[in-house]
Amino acid sequence: MTTTCHLPVLDMGADDYVYEMTDYEGARARWCPGCGDHSILTAVQRLLAAEQLTPENTVFVSGIGCSSRFPHYLKTYGFHGIHGRALPVATGVRLNRPDLTVFVVMGDGDCTSIGAGHWIHALRYNLDMVVMLLDNGIYGLTKQQTSPTTPQGFPSNTQPRGSWLPALNPLQVALGVTNASFVAQTAEWAPAHLYATLRAARQHRGLSFVRILQRCPVYSSALFLKAVQNPDNIGMLVHDDGVVVPELARLYANQIAHDPHDLDAARRMAGVTDRLNLGVFYRDDSRPRYEETRRVPPRTAAERVALIEAELDRYAV
Ligand code: SF4
Repeated sequence: MTTTCHLPVLDMGADDYVYEMTDYEGARARWCPGCGDHSILTAVQRLLAAEQLTPENTVFVSGIGCSSRFPHYLKTYGFHGIHGRALPVATGVRLNRPDLTVFVVMGDGDCTSIGAGHWIHALRYNLDMVVMLLDNGIYGLTKQQTSPTTPQGFPSNTQPRGSWLPALNPLQVALGVTNASFVAQTAEWAPAHLYATLRAARQHRGLSFVRILQRCPVYSSALFLKAVQNPDNIGMLVHDDGVVVPELARLYANQIAHDPHDLDAARRMAGVTDRLNLGVFYRDDSRPRYEETRRVPPRTAAERVALIEAELDRYAV
């Protein structure tokens, strides 16, 4: 696991400094040409600038996978962790440094397979952070293995005759977790919608779970082809408390009024199979957040060492 710190060389003392998108650019992204992750990175940089999040108070935590290289490509703090464990790391950061803005980036294998237990409990804990699931329906980094979100029948190197099982639906899972407070879906090929969704997620108080449909032109290029080529295969969920992007209304004719405070309707919208629904499915800003019940009092380094020593003494034999 690696931690990254690419803080910009800026006059950090200047209160009136206005951050530009370029202030958040880290190393040159090494994803394949045409990879949807490039679009997501741009939307995130746009979000950081729009929210004027200071790089030294922002941290991106990731697991393992193509998308998990995200922290390297941003000039913020970052923690490129181990497979499936981004959420426990982010939970620790959030609880011990409530002054930081925390983002989590995971792939579909990372989040919905090895990290599924952490995912469910993180949704329930509802800590204030933005959790992005970059879902390309395949393990890309390890060269095209079936993941839980691979559609049934889709061939891979591990199941060359096609995935045996119906795909797991991350929205339905998230909407089934007690205390989940924000569930949305967007697509990287609709950058205006992607940005607006991330902005809504960032402004939500609690854990914002955003599934981002992401094209992998190398290993699952056919996955979202119908929706990319024909916007009529997309349903745009619109509501004043959700995401409304007026300039997309002409392109995406299926504008569906959906109240994101209606959990039953959200579950119905998530189960639709004849089109891809994008938007905020559910939100409830009043849900309890774990950090409200478990405040970690600020302690000095010496106090922390003393506490650890006292704890270890309890187990001395
Ligand atoms: Fe992106 Fe796929 Fe290349 Fe990974 S293998 S970087 S997901 S295009």
